[in-house]
Amino acid sequence: MTRRYLQLALPSPLRQTFDYILPAKIDPPPVGGRVRVPFGRQELIGICLGISEHTTVPDAKLKAAIETLDSEPVLPDSLFTLCRWAAEYYQHPLGEVFDTALPVLLRQGEGLAAPGEIRWRPTRLGELYPLDGSIKRAHKQLAALMTLREYPEGMIVPLLSGLGIERPTLLALEKKQLVERISLAPPAAEKALTGLREPPLSLNPEQKTAVDDVSVSLGRFQPFLLFGVTGSGKTEVYLQAIAAVLARGEQALVLVPEIGLAPQTVARFHARFQTEIAVLHSGRNERERLDAWRAARSGRAGIVIGTRSAVFTPLARPGLIIVDEEHDLSFKQQDGFRYNARDLAVRRAQLENTPVLLGSATPSLESLANARSQRYRLLTLKQRAAGAGEPLFKLIDLRHQPLREGFSEPLINIMSRTLERGEQVLVFINRRGFAPVLLCHDCGWQAHCKRCDARPTLHRPAFPGQGMRLHCHHCGTESAPPVQCPSCGSTDLRPVGIGTERADDLLRQRFPKTPLFRVDRDSTRRKDALATLYHDIHAADAAILVGTQMLAKGHHFPNVTLVALLDIDGGLFGADFRAPEHMAQLIVQVAGRAGRAEKPGLVLLQTHQPEHPLLHELISTGYAAFAERALEERRQLAFPPAGFLVLIRAEATRAETPTEFLEAVAGIATGLGIADVQYWGPVPAPMEKRAGRFRAHLLLQATRRAPLHELLALLVPRIESLPAARRVRWSVDVDPQELG
Ligand code: ADP
Ligand code: ZN
Ligand code: ZN
Repeated sequence: MTRRYLQLALPSPLRQTFDYILPAKIDPPPVGGRVRVPFGRQELIGICLGISEHTTVPDAKLKAAIETLDSEPVLPDSLFTLCRWAAEYYQHPLGEVFDTALPVLLRQGEGLAAPGEIRWRPTRLGELYPLDGSIKRAHKQLAALMTLREYPEGMIVPLLSGLGIERPTLLALEKKQLVERISLAPPAAEKALTGLREPPLSLNPEQKTAVDDVSVSLGRFQPFLLFGVTGSGKTEVYLQAIAAVLARGEQALVLVPEIGLAPQTVARFHARFQTEIAVLHSGRNERERLDAWRAARSGRAGIVIGTRSAVFTPLARPGLIIVDEEHDLSFKQQDGFRYNARDLAVRRAQLENTPVLLGSATPSLESLANARSQRYRLLTLKQRAAGAGEPLFKLIDLRHQPLREGFSEPLINIMSRTLERGEQVLVFINRRGFAPVLLCHDCGWQAHCKRCDARPTLHRPAFPGQGMRLHCHHCGTESAPPVQCPSCGSTDLRPVGIGTERADDLLRQRFPKTPLFRVDRDSTRRKDALATLYHDIHAADAAILVGTQMLAKGHHFPNVTLVALLDIDGGLFGADFRAPEHMAQLIVQVAGRAGRAEKPGLVLLQTHQPEHPLLHELISTGYAAFAERALEERRQLAFPPAGFLVLIRAEATRAETPTEFLEAVAGIATGLGIADVQYWGPVPAPMEKRAGRFRAHLLLQATRRAPLHELLALLVPRIESLPAARRVRWSVDVDPQELG
């Protein structure tokens, strides 16, 4: 018989497939099925890519597969294709792509479908077996057999152990062929419930157009961009589009940002639909994730809600993909397999012939450009759904203001009046902790992280008795601040700048009677802390909310009528070309937290740059006008979406190594002679040293994707085989979101 060989994708950083002998004694796996194989001294689980009668691997190096785990592919064709496509597009090893796509327990070998229920029952022989024979002396076996005879349809294990019948006893009886195990399969092809628990809201004309447009596109590929101002009722559009999907007997996949998956989001879907909702995010344990994955795959869950990696969740009957807050950075994985879930969602919809709905009040420039070129259909919601107007923006020019520790007098005055009316104030600050800088007042020395080119943030004690701490947000290092200046010996060390903790202190002194809630990563570490905070904020009258980005996302605070952004200048001048876009999104999203139906919202922005053109555009004409101007700037630079980027990063413990390595890479790349690609660098990264390692960048730019991908396909294998590649950590980031 001819030998057959398996081609496998294994979870390994090597960009290659692996050949194994398919021994006669194991079942041939289907393409897309899992196989257990020896790998070095360990065993790995790989995915079968194909079976062939040939291999180029020499005999001596070939090993035999150990076990086939599946009789059907773990992922449907569409997702298998998506993974292969993504591995190529992002230049990432396929085995690691599958690793991202599959729940951990499946990667560890757990069964694909939920196991059927196991029951023990007497065999025919067991039913007739004389109880006064040899078994009489085996007391436990006798008792077990007598019990089981009373349950001819079988007993489940928990019931048996409850009666003191143990597994060894059952195994002994099984050996004598007196009892047997049966496994009851779970119901095949499960249907999702389609009913509603509550009536839908009656839609305004803009919402109705949006729902109708999506509904008539069901069953074919069509991307939509739902550009709706904050509070315009995008969620209601999602809900009613999903109702149409369920009515067709199909399922909907909803992707949300990391932080957007508050219990409230899921609760809103539960309140509307009867169907099971599968929830996939990092807060769930592996067992829960696998259960949700199975419910999606079997078709039982009509709705699947999850963060980034949920884009790989299989659906028995895919009907619609929704990406909420599509501009959010958390859809892009920033390490390892650097995929963008929003972009993969569009690709997936194309493979599965479904519409895909990207929603945001502040769409990414990429999506706006796609809407402009009519690759995406644009749906707009210009009005707030519940009848309130858009908030009013006002700049406070900090140049001529006496600043009382970050808060200008006009700001404090307007805050007082808002609170006196029994309303709430939201104060947004870009950084957590107490203060971003510790400065010597005598010589100007500033605390520095030893492992990073960065200043550590001063934090308040985490528990009573502890002192202030210096905490580097880049490498995690913590230390006690020095008592004396290491440079001049002075003891006059002062915190400079304002983080959320310090704002908390200052505002408590200024408004001692007003309840204050701080919402940042430090105040919400405990499980349920965020939900509790939201609840208390809703229950309160006049109150101050102080917080970071966490406050900017997806949550409505009906009592907030004043939003203050303490310092927006940092964002306007960030090193990254996307900094203004992100700042504008943040401003609009934070502002969108303000204003209940009846009470209009006011947004105050403190700045030293009141004449900044982008800022002006944003507050006088709105996000759409801002985006137009920003798109024009990108076009002039041929930056995304008007051009395409690939960032090759390298880092090492010796300062020169990454740059030397990237110089070699650039040399190979230019030698490949592919026209229309520009090279920038290598240059040290904006933060050259981080966590004790030096970092450098090589940026590739082109006005079309094709030459970049042609180049990468040739270049990456060459980089892999460079001896110097073993002395650095390097990565390829296709469509990078941040150049840091
Ligand atoms: P978005 O997701 O666009 O920020 P939401 O969907 O959260 O907005 O809607 C904001 C508020 O408006 C919610 O309280 C929602 O219940 C309400 N709302 C949405 N659509 C309607 C409608 N058609 N009629 C009345 N209220 C609506
Ligand atoms: Zn000093
Ligand atoms: Zn550090």
